[in-house]
Amino acid sequence: DTAKDIKSLIHSGVNVFRLNMSHGDHKYHKKIFKRIRACSTKTGTYGAILMDLCGPKIRVGKFENGSIQLKKNERVIIRCASGIGSDGIIISQYRQLYKDVEPGERILLDDGNMECRVESVDGKDVICKVIYGGELKNNKGLNLPDTRVSVSSFTAKDKMDVKLAMELGADFVALSFVRTAKDVRGLQRYMARVNREIPVIAKIEKPEAVVNIDEIIKTAYGIMVARGDLGIELPAEEVPLIQRVVTDKARANNCPVIVATQMMESMITNARPTRAEVGDVANAAMTSVDAVMLSAETAAGKYPVKAVKMMDCILREIENHQWSTGSFGSDSGGNFDRPSSRRAVAHAANALAHDLKLQGVLVPTDSGHTAAVLSASRPSSPLLGLSTSIQTCQKLSLHWGIVPFLINRLESQNWKLLSQESCHRCKLTKTGHRVLLVSGFNDDEALNEPVMKIINVKS
Ligand code: PEP
Repeated sequence: DTAKDIKSLIHSGVNVFRLNMSHGDHKYHKKIFKRIRACSTKTGTYGAILMDLCGPKIRVGKFENGSIQLKKNERVIIRCASGIGSDGIIISQYRQLYKDVEPGERILLDDGNMECRVESVDGKDVICKVIYGGELKNNKGLNLPDTRVSVSSFTAKDKMDVKLAMELGADFVALSFVRTAKDVRGLQRYMARVNREIPVIAKIEKPEAVVNIDEIIKTAYGIMVARGDLGIELPAEEVPLIQRVVTDKARANNCPVIVATQMMESMITNARPTRAEVGDVANAAMTSVDAVMLSAETAAGKYPVKAVKMMDCILREIENHQWSTGSFGSDSGGNFDRPSSRRAVAHAANALAHDLKLQGVLVPTDSGHTAAVLSASRPSSPLLGLSTSIQTCQKLSLHWGIVPFLINRLESQNWKLLSQESCHRCKLTKTGHRVLLVSGFNDDEALNEPVMKIINVKS
């Protein structure tokens, strides 16, 4: 997490940095946040920062020596009180756990890698037998697939963390263990009341969220298929199909989608991924998700930069093929709930880019909305999101295929000239190439007068 490491990650292809609020204190996150911003400025990039709120995620506490070994058939105590864990004693950060569990229920640890079964409850101690053992490290997740958990969806810790996100100016906040759209609205309202609304990414990792996915997609800014917890809360074999259905639904609603967890898992310790991991990343790219995410591979692994480079290579390989065949799974257009000139223009821009083999689509964008809608239609030319706002450029970093480009107000008065200059500055096109400029949108649909202009790039 030094500036050198962060710059290497940026050069290797990172567009969005996730700060997981389940680990580290505010002082640490502040330091890293500022470091990421400074590195982005130095490298002339607009990486976004996503602060991931724990939500009602249950985690174990810390251990005297950073971890303990759980051995098959041994008895361990899960203690619902403050303190530090040690051999045979695990601290639960969720203090009400002893009230919710019943003998016979499973307690899964570290994304389900270890399993215990509840034998009895003694005061605030839950006595368990280890079924599958392993090394349990500080702050790892604890799941209760058989238990009705009474914990609320937006915790006191989340409130403190979201205040920090607002203070620092995070680009996105992710909410864990979302069950309904109401959970997302609760966070949005809280932010609006306290300061300002940061776009919310809803993490889909509960069976209830899968059931309520349509409403959640309509309410959240983006969706994360959080496969780690999802594959524990539900049978793992259901996850691939859920990933596909959620991706398709999100894409049909212009909602950016992130696929997360265990993508390059073996690279936590190995310098090369398994072929199955390569296939997993490739599959996500083939369904045109907006982002694929690494977790422990970059946060605690031996090869963080290599893992990012490998992922970048896989995505380039698949996208090169998609560019050459024009098969990005572009939207078919026309299937809108309500007529939307943005979506209709995006569909037309897509057709023009494809039929005329245009070298780029340039979109002046204030809030980022127009560029995001164009990205959702997956045009077969690179998209340049031109904005006078650095916050908008950062936000666009999450979206598929957008190259964010900061412009100043003076430049923005002459779009044709600006297009020429932007093409030269970003080296995306050469003299003789043709690009498409899409502009003229207003937040008020009645004031929309969209213009599409084909521009010949000159020297
Ligand atoms: C997940 O469960 O897949 C996930 C992304 O959440 P976290 O990393 O916070 O456990």
